[in-house]
Amino acid sequence: MSKHLKVAAAVALLANVVIVAFLLLRPTDDVPAQDLVDVLDPLAADATMETARYDLSDRAGDLNIILISLDALRYDRTGFGGNPDGLTPNLDAFAQESIVFEKTVSAASWTLPSHMSVWTGRWPSVHGVTNKLRLLGRDQMAESTLSPGIETYPNLLAQNGWTAAGFSGGAGMSGKYGFDRGFDTYVDDRPFAGFDYSSPQAFEWLREHRDERFFLVLHGYDSHGQYPLATSAIESIPYDGSFDGSIEENARIREGGLAAIEDPGDASDMTAQIGLEDAAFLESIYDEKVKDADERLGSFLSQVRTMGLMDDTVILVMSDHGDEFMEHGAFDHGHTLYEEQTHVVMMMRLPGYAREHRVEPVVRTIDLFPTLFDLLGLEGPVGVNGESLVPLLRGEDLELTAYGETDYRLYVHHRAIRDDDYKLVLDLRDGETELYDLSADGGEQNDISSTEPRRTYEMEQALRGWMMEHGQNPQDYRGMEQDPIEIF
Ligand SMILES: [Zn+2]
Repeated sequence: MSKHLKVAAAVALLANVVIVAFLLLRPTDDVPAQDLVDVLDPLAADATMETARYDLSDRAGDLNIILISLDALRYDRTGFGGNPDGLTPNLDAFAQESIVFEKTVSAASWTLPSHMSVWTGRWPSVHGVTNKLRLLGRDQMAESTLSPGIETYPNLLAQNGWTAAGFSGGAGMSGKYGFDRGFDTYVDDRPFAGFDYSSPQAFEWLREHRDERFFLVLHGYDSHGQYPLATSAIESIPYDGSFDGSIEENARIREGGLAAIEDPGDASDMTAQIGLEDAAFLESIYDEKVKDADERLGSFLSQVRTMGLMDDTVILVMSDHGDEFMEHGAFDHGHTLYEEQTHVVMMMRLPGYAREHRVEPVVRTIDLFPTLFDLLGLEGPVGVNGESLVPLLRGEDLELTAYGETDYRLYVHHRAIRDDDYKLVLDLRDGETELYDLSADGGEQNDISSTEPRRTYEMEQALRGWMMEHGQNPQDYRGMEQDPIEIF
């Protein structure tokens, strides 16, 4: 290359750097100062988020962590997830500063096993807390609790010097199942409480402990079927039918629906009476609750922002499962592993990287803490099933297989396996399989197992093999009979 060309190339390169730097450094109100430091990092000179280094290890000693769980929030109700109804303006704004995982699969479709999988980074059958009660023998039950031999990520954070406090809605998030390990404070005294209960307490705690390096968990049942919507809000929904939208009614529909799985036509089954208008009414109640959850979350986040904590705090946002409104002939959650119950929210706002970054490939909620630990340069527990998603953040390939499990109330026993496009669901009691092409049929209405026998066979074999690998024998569930155990 001639000297002139070299000079010209250098000038062009410099001009590019100046233009990119100008575009990235131009003053805006919402780019924290720390972001600018990252942009100046020579390794991130082309400064697309895909090539950012995603490494917080040199700051781990100074960073706080907040984990927020919006119980029962469906991904498809969020604006950033494509919902057009404006139900989640605060979450949508948060998404603009966050890594958004677009295809996050929950390990289970109800609160207790799902959150425990997040806490431990393990599949439900591996951590073992698959129900509130466990069978000891015929008609003998004992309360479930996480084995002392299984480590939790929150406990490790506490051991690494974070002051841990949890403010939960109780019930399936009660500390007694093992959730409170390592926490100085863990609130769970009101069953099915929402953020209206947990968030003011969390904020109060933050004001007292803001100078410590903290790990704070905030959880609320605001969108859940057992959390009541205000009567005035119910009455404002246009509807002339016979349903009242109360939590008692929700429980009756759920219980009758479970009875009908074993005994179709059971007298207590109300689902047969739910017409299109009724289903729309019950869904509107859910949507109103999602709006309330979002508003309360927004108020909490704005308080955190006002306290000046955003630049020093990693904020993780998740949901544990969704909810069904007759998409597959039933209501509530826990009883199947279809998308309305297992496609959940997972986001991360990282100081220094607080811009929107969409991640498309399939990920799992069990990957949340392994990713956080990798970012912070911390050693996680050994033998976990979750994996760090940092390679995906850096634009590298990472193909993950997602599995789902539900043994809801020791009554239904389903397993699922999914890759990017296809999902196979197996009912362990009767051995029936269903296969869906999620790229063409996101609502799982068209079972293609009979037209794609080879793929069905291969995925079923992979699922059964995965079960055996993790200590479950599919045959053990064949023809299993057990009334649904009580919930409380
Ligand atoms: Zn839940």
